[in-house]
Amino acid sequence: SGRWAKAAAIVKELEEKCGTPIGKLRQVADAMAVEMHAGLASEGGSKLKMIISFVDNLPTGDEKGLFYALDLGGTNFRVLRVQLGGKDNRVAKQEFEEVSIPPHLMVGTSDALFDFIAAALKKFVDTEGEDSHLSPGRQRELGFTFSFPVKQSSIAAGTLIKWTKGFSIEDAVGQDVVGELTKAMERVGLDMRVAALVNDTIGTLAGGRYDNPDVIAAVILGTGTNAAYVERAHAIPKWHGLLPKSGDMVINMEWGNFRSSHLPLTEYDQAMDVESLNPGEQIFEKLISGMYLGEILRRVLCRMAEEAAFFGDTIPPKLKIPFILRTPDMSAMHHDTSSDLRVVGSKLKDILDIPNTSLKTRKLIVELCDIISIRGARLSAAGILGILKKLGRDTVREEEKQRSVIALDGGLYEHYTKFREAMESTLKELLGEASDTIVIEHSNDGSGVGAALLAASHSQYL
Ligand code: ADP
Ligand code: MG
Repeated sequence: SGRWAKAAAIVKELEEKCGTPIGKLRQVADAMAVEMHAGLASEGGSKLKMIISFVDNLPTGDEKGLFYALDLGGTNFRVLRVQLGGKDNRVAKQEFEEVSIPPHLMVGTSDALFDFIAAALKKFVDTEGEDSHLSPGRQRELGFTFSFPVKQSSIAAGTLIKWTKGFSIEDAVGQDVVGELTKAMERVGLDMRVAALVNDTIGTLAGGRYDNPDVIAAVILGTGTNAAYVERAHAIPKWHGLLPKSGDMVINMEWGNFRSSHLPLTEYDQAMDVESLNPGEQIFEKLISGMYLGEILRRVLCRMAEEAAFFGDTIPPKLKIPFILRTPDMSAMHHDTSSDLRVVGSKLKDILDIPNTSLKTRKLIVELCDIISIRGARLSAAGILGILKKLGRDTVREEEKQRSVIALDGGLYEHYTKFREAMESTLKELLGEASDTIVIEHSNDGSGVGAALLAASHSQYL
């Protein structure tokens, strides 16, 4: 019927607009490498902030002592207690707790957010057991993983540039987030020093390096997306400080804000961006990350309901609610292997109040999931190729068979199997014969341990 033809036409158009042939991915990778150069050359030289992290040494394995970490970056935050035992005992003990952030605090005031965090941290510190060994007379120290763009001024200080991922707390922008946390800890009576302020990518890089000395970069695919890597300090023209002894400097790319004319943007992406909390920003992130994939799907379904009566004569009211369709639900539909696609059917019913969908309808929805997620997966592979190009590690060098390991983490990478597989196979395809020397490693919650390790290596007692 006409309805089906129209629906099929919308899907076909989406598929074309979301296309990521290898040639296009190479253009994206090249553009990424160009922007990396520009962002390193001068402050504000690129959409890529290429933030200097002040981390010039990654963990060695010698780190010792009791350290805390706090990971704030999405809808949850985690507090972590780690007993580091040096070369022989490594991470001797690790305890954590996860706390969800009440949505009103994500758009409230800085004090309210940090008071909530400090209170949860204090509660966790109060559970410290007899077997935790803080040297007598010492202050507890914390690695603070804060996964939003921060202009670092030292390893333990930095001002918030902007919020992303659904956070919007006006009075925190421009503030030193370590100062904000420290004041809140004082207000709740918690005596703790922030020894290192890091991004989750930096934490993941540090945790990854602790486990494997070949780790050179880290990528997060979660609510948002970002990457960090180890750069040669002399290749950072905008760095006017002393060259670090190691010769290295870790760079937080903030690649979520990458944009390029080569990116395959659709009308749905454009509309979502315009209506977002941060229009015009985080364009790469909005194509790739977990916060947005389900919302893109919802927008396509909305148009199909409106223009092709895809769900019948009326538009299901729930379908009009932004962000009602979450990426984990999209992923569940995408992975539905039942012959009647019953997971798709029940998600439509439970989330959108759309009962009794036909198999034909369900199949088309799985196709949409595929188009949207595979585009994101392939673009993230192109981003990784961009980093490898910048480092000259995208080709096989005869002299040295150097291995490059990239530490990956984040809920999207971890749980969205089809996304992960497409990302990994696309990277292989892009690298060709060099793919033998590039390894992707899942760094499971490496960012928390990584932050604790960096707190240890920046302890006031060293
Ligand atoms: P954050 O990025 O907020 O620090 P995570 O790395 O745990 O936290 O990522 C959480 C994100 O991962 C969620 O917002 C969601 O988009 C995505 N995610 C979680 N579970 C799944 C899933 N089963 N399928 C697809 N995406 C998922
Ligand atoms: Mg995270």
